[in-house]
Amino acid sequence: MQPLILADRNNARYRYESPFDEQKISRMHPASREFYEQVKSLAQNKELSALFLSRQKTVDEREKTQKSFDKAKKSYDTQLLENIANATNPGDNATSTTAREYSQKIERLTAQVRNTEQQIHAHLGIQKLWGIITPDDAARNQVVADFKMFQFWFPLKELAWQLLFLLPIFGVFYAWSIRSVKKGNPIQTLIASHLMVIASLPIILKMIELVLDIIPKHFFKNLFKILQSLHLMALWHYFIIFGSIAVGLFLVYFIQRKVFNRQKVMQKRLMRGGCTTCSKKLPPSAIFCPFCGSGQRTVCVACGKETPVGGLHCIHCGTSR
Ligand SMILES: [Zn+2]
Ligand SMILES: [Zn+2]
Repeated sequence: MQPLILADRNNARYRYESPFDEQKISRMHPASREFYEQVKSLAQNKELSALFLSRQKTVDEREKTQKSFDKAKKSYDTQLLENIANATNPGDNATSTTAREYSQKIERLTAQVRNTEQQIHAHLGIQKLWGIITPDDAARNQVVADFKMFQFWFPLKELAWQLLFLLPIFGVFYAWSIRSVKKGNPIQTLIASHLMVIASLPIILKMIELVLDIIPKHFFKNLFKILQSLHLMALWHYFIIFGSIAVGLFLVYFIQRKVFNRQKVMQKRLMRGGCTTCSKKLPPSAIFCPFCGSGQRTVCVACGKETPVGGLHCIHCGTSR
């Protein structure tokens, strides 16, 4: 409790963040808030912080004394050995007097600390704080349940916030890529789809992170145990490598299917009455594009009549092309 109550006083660091920051306290769980508000009021209590300060000082001094005492004892032991070697009386010299003085001082300081502690414990505010830290069973169970709830929801909330930033970027690139496919601009399509992949990477990573968070911690532990018992730990690394490759290939495949599929692009243009090569709007029943000159008709292998390029079936006999 002492480090907490003296936290603001002991800290002279630049960029130090007080644990009693109002904003921090207002975001806390009600149980923590009650505790921190009580500690804060205690930290502002002059009488109490004087007691804690005096305890801190006395403990420091006791430690220092103990250290010098240990040092003196070491030299005393050395001297003792020398004295034995010289066959003189070891108890009767200056060093043993110093040792006695040291231990007396330590005893005095210990008593002083104990006295301060008794005064601290007798303080009503401290007793109230003890009451807060030792709740009854119902309150304790409530806090545990709240904590579990928080642990469950926190990763999801975190992901939602991160997606709030990531998704618009992805959306912009996606829209751009769709637009450039419609416009039939291959360079823009290439750039946009690559940017789309790059923007999708953090989203995919975040999803994987969430899945790993949600999977019970023991799942992997048991899996590792089995692998280890079979001396198949290397398998795990292969699994990870193949897994990443599979995900990468799937992404490439997906984008190819969705964005780069030539057949689909041509169908879309045909639907809108555009040129299948340059996508510009064609005059009705045009056989060649007036803009790029590419042919818009092909001969059906079944009926021999002309049907639009890019169509799935012949417009005369319906044969699948
Ligand atoms: Zn054209
Ligand atoms: Zn036909």
